[in-house]
Amino acid sequence: MPRRGPLCKNTTSMTSVDKDPRQPDRDAKWRLFRVAIGRGWALRCPHCGAGPLYSGWVHLLPACPRCGLVYERNQGDTWLFTTVGDRVFIGLLVAIIFFGVPRDHPRLAILSFIVVGVALIWTTPRRWGVGTALHYLSRAYSKDADDPIPPRVPNETPTNGDER
Ligand SMILES: [Zn+2]
Repeated sequence: MPRRGPLCKNTTSMTSVDKDPRQPDRDAKWRLFRVAIGRGWALRCPHCGAGPLYSGWVHLLPACPRCGLVYERNQGDTWLFTTVGDRVFIGLLVAIIFFGVPRDHPRLAILSFIVVGVALIWTTPRRWGVGTALHYLSRAYSKDADDPIPPRVPNETPTNGDER
C-alpha cells in the first residue's frame, strides 16, 4: 500500500508574497462590518461602541455623546435599512397567509401571528440599531470628504457592545 505523504512538501509556498495585496483591506472592511453590526444590535454607537443609540425605547439620539458621530445627517437616511428589516417580518406574515395556514390550521395561524408580532415588536430597537449601523457602514466605506467620520476617541476600548 503506498504511503500517503503531504500534498505539498514546500510548506513555505503560501507566503505573504503570494497573498492578494487587497486582502488586508478586505479583512479590515469585514472586521468593521462585523463590529459595527454587533454594536448596532447592542444599541451602541457603531463607531465607538460606547455611546448609546437611543434615549428611551427607540428615540434615536442626534449624535453619539461619546465620539460625536452624527447618526443620521439627513432625516430619513436610515429609512431604507430599517424598512427592509421591518419587511422581513411582514413577509413572514404574508407567507403564512399565502400558504393557507389560517384555512388549514387556524390555531397554528393565530399562534404564528402572535409569535411573529411579538418578535416584530421585541426586536424593533435592535433591528433599527442594525439599520443605523448599516447606514454608518455605507458612510465609512464611501469615505466621503463632505461626510467625515469622527476620529477614534483616545484610550477608547474597542467593543462590540456585548458588555452592557
Ligand atoms: Zn460613538
